[in-house]
Amino acid sequence: MKPPSVTIKTTCPYCGVGCGVLAEQNTAGAWSVRGDSDHPANFGRLCSKGAALAETINLPNRLMTPLQRTADGGLQRISWDHALDQIAEGFRAAIDEFGPDSVGIYVSGQILTEDYYVANKLMKGFIGSANIDTNSRLCMSSAVAAYNRAFGSDTVPVSYEDLENADLVVLVGSNTAYAHPVTFQRLVAAKERRPEMKFVVIDPRKTATCDIADLHLPIAPGADALLFNGLLVALAEAGKIDHEFIAASVDGFDASLAAARADAADLEILAQRCGLSQAKLEQFFAWFIAHERTVSLWSQGLNQSASGSDKGNALINCHLATGRVGKPAMGPFSITGQPNAMGGREVGGLANMLAAHQGFTPEAIDRVSRFWGSQNVAQKPGLKAVDLFAAAGKGQIKALWIIATNPVFSLPDSHAVRTALEHCPLVVLSECVADTDTAQYADILLPATTWGERDGTVTNSERRISRQRPLYPPVGESRHDWQALCAVAQRLGFGTAFDFADAAAIFREYAALTAFENNGSRDLDLGAFNQLTDEQYNELPPTRWPQPADRPPVEPFSDGRFFTENRRARMLPITAQGAPSALTPLYPLRLNTGRLRDQWHGMSRTGAVPKLLNHVGEPTLTIHPMDAARFKLRGHQIARVGNTLGQLLTRVVLDEHQRQGSVFVPMHWSDAFSRNGLVNALIAPIIDPVSGQPEFKTQSVRVEHYPAEWFGFALIREGLPVPELQELPGDYAVKITATAAMRIELAGVASPHDWMDWAKTTLNQQKFALETAAEIDREWIEFADSATGRYRIAQITQGRLDWVLHITRDSRAVDTHWLLGLFAEPSLNAAQRADLMAGKPAGAQADVGPIICACFSLGRNPLIAAIQEHGITDAKALGACTQAGTNCGSCLPELKALIAQNPPSAEAATTPAKASIED
Ligand code: SF4
Repeated sequence: MKPPSVTIKTTCPYCGVGCGVLAEQNTAGAWSVRGDSDHPANFGRLCSKGAALAETINLPNRLMTPLQRTADGGLQRISWDHALDQIAEGFRAAIDEFGPDSVGIYVSGQILTEDYYVANKLMKGFIGSANIDTNSRLCMSSAVAAYNRAFGSDTVPVSYEDLENADLVVLVGSNTAYAHPVTFQRLVAAKERRPEMKFVVIDPRKTATCDIADLHLPIAPGADALLFNGLLVALAEAGKIDHEFIAASVDGFDASLAAARADAADLEILAQRCGLSQAKLEQFFAWFIAHERTVSLWSQGLNQSASGSDKGNALINCHLATGRVGKPAMGPFSITGQPNAMGGREVGGLANMLAAHQGFTPEAIDRVSRFWGSQNVAQKPGLKAVDLFAAAGKGQIKALWIIATNPVFSLPDSHAVRTALEHCPLVVLSECVADTDTAQYADILLPATTWGERDGTVTNSERRISRQRPLYPPVGESRHDWQALCAVAQRLGFGTAFDFADAAAIFREYAALTAFENNGSRDLDLGAFNQLTDEQYNELPPTRWPQPADRPPVEPFSDGRFFTENRRARMLPITAQGAPSALTPLYPLRLNTGRLRDQWHGMSRTGAVPKLLNHVGEPTLTIHPMDAARFKLRGHQIARVGNTLGQLLTRVVLDEHQRQGSVFVPMHWSDAFSRNGLVNALIAPIIDPVSGQPEFKTQSVRVEHYPAEWFGFALIREGLPVPELQELPGDYAVKITATAAMRIELAGVASPHDWMDWAKTTLNQQKFALETAAEIDREWIEFADSATGRYRIAQITQGRLDWVLHITRDSRAVDTHWLLGLFAEPSLNAAQRADLMAGKPAGAQADVGPIICACFSLGRNPLIAAIQEHGITDAKALGACTQAGTNCGSCLPELKALIAQNPPSAEAATTPAKASIED
């Protein structure tokens, strides 16, 4: 095999694990990726998303040039200079007439620290308003608030190594197996090395993460603070309070314990209110009491709550009370969702922070003003995400620059966000793709670089800074976000302050700001990096902060000193709040939203990779079978989920692991991929009063059967034009990128008058006149059965399959793998045409079922067959037999569940799997 011609070390752009990636280009120019075995975040592992990065390099729908909205609503191409002039003029006019608080910037945990730094410096340092916020507000701002309140700084005092070395890991509101798969695999490996390690998973759902759980607490939605108040009481009663540590380093213990006792003193009542058995509660408390080396890892389940900050502080209270912070293998660990949520926090991307972990104190404002050389630094916090868009809705924001995020899709109450953008006189969107839900409201679109082109740094969940390096030059006319921001800053007259030559220069200035008049008074200190040469910056190895210039780095809090004014940590008295929206007879279920294993956010990258859509390709409603029976739903049917804000349509998935009384819908489907699949349309904009983070986990909804009269799917050969979603019939429509074709799932009540007419005009997007069909050797084959409602039609051009449409009256899942194979045929023979119309292959092609292992495209049915045939009783043997789970490992929890649900017969199980394979 030829060696790769180029190898570049970079970082995965998806989640906060921050895995190192080796991108390799072969001599033919093709890129591939593998995990970087030297990177301390992943040591060579990648999950299914990271492993598919090379397949996202040529993204469809890339935004290539600046565009401007025309009077008739269309878009016209403009030059960069013209676009930048218009943005600067729009911002200047708004500032001059309405003041600096009339403009805003909304950024993203996807952008690099250097982009973030420049955006923050422009807005807070020179425009003079703090109206810059980030979509990380939606992921972890409650954790930031909790850390700040407890420690006086936004410091995550835990590393991945601490997690591995802990004796007890408590995973709270975190489906780590799906959302942070490589960290989860590290935990699985740690457990294999030290089987005595204990894992507790606290989650209303029994998720894939429970695969590792010694104890699962299926807590009532929203009851987390109550549980941790109960734990604090139990720790006190067991004599586990570290009074020495508290005397030396912690304020607020007595008041916090009193509040916890008032809330959760009685175990029986506590168990009832948490929806847990008393025995499980006692077991959890006993383990927490017994294991000093405890890490509590939490994520969106706690943060995305109207009282998320209090939940975080209730958890941190337990660590402070027991002195389990600032020491190896213990501590409260908020794991970040996005790849650079942490970098955004560091530079000051949150509206309530000024810069470099400094708030809006008079001293910090003075210090930052002198460092930036600006007399116009913002004096007070700005509008947080939900408030920023609410202000736009009220006409108070006159110019808004949105960078690398899709607020119409990701903010709560999507309808209100659309209205806000309609009301805002100037909406600028910097994006790498052209067709996001937000793009249709932009007045100016700027083409931005994306992973593979970007050059800078990101910080992962454990405070590790890694380089994201470019693999190739920016495509089209795309530019880095910091370049666009600097160009506008210069047009606004802020000249030399934004005269950065490259990302390295920005990083040096940012590092210098963290160290400026620091002297150990602030947690974030990168003074060791403020003199990096360009070469050193380029070669920067993954490094955890702090990295001060004048002293050796030490782990935060290891000396028992925190960053409050008196250098003591604070425990906060917490009174647990319930879910903010009440259940009513009309809206009797709690809606929980979250991530899937193989998708990332709005799917603009992962939605382009067929194998990542094989696992779950459509919006789904996961519901307990008892609830499904109560609401007359059956598996694979379409359900309507709704409340006063809106409604969505999803496939029904029955799952006895779903907590009764609540349902789960993934967050990923936007209007770009589905009609009526946008779950945030149902989420009320109820925010945590401290952090401003919205509640996404307990919205009250109702579910009902969607009375579809027909179901169907179309497959359109890859490369042929695909109709827009609004051109499709029915209320339910989802586009799914498949191998060799685009698949469109459909369902509806009203149907086209004539399916053949509809298909010929709408699926046939190649703009040939129908009369010329004979000339271009085009034919249509058709099957119709009015008794059963089955209708099938396929278009074949010069012998090759263009598209096929199947319509039925029932919602059963149809295996289309064999159909996809027909698109590769240069010319369909008579038997294949007959199969197309029969709706199934005449030969013995097995239905593989839903794909479990994305890396090797292995479906449920052949895996079950292997389990049965070879008597397989564990995932390792199944991997040896089929390869399933042997690459990224993301599917291992599902493989184990599959084996548990389909155990081999006693006879088969007596024959060792390996022996069978070797035979
Ligand atoms: S766990 Fe997966 S998505 Fe997250 S950084 Fe690693 S490879 Fe990327």
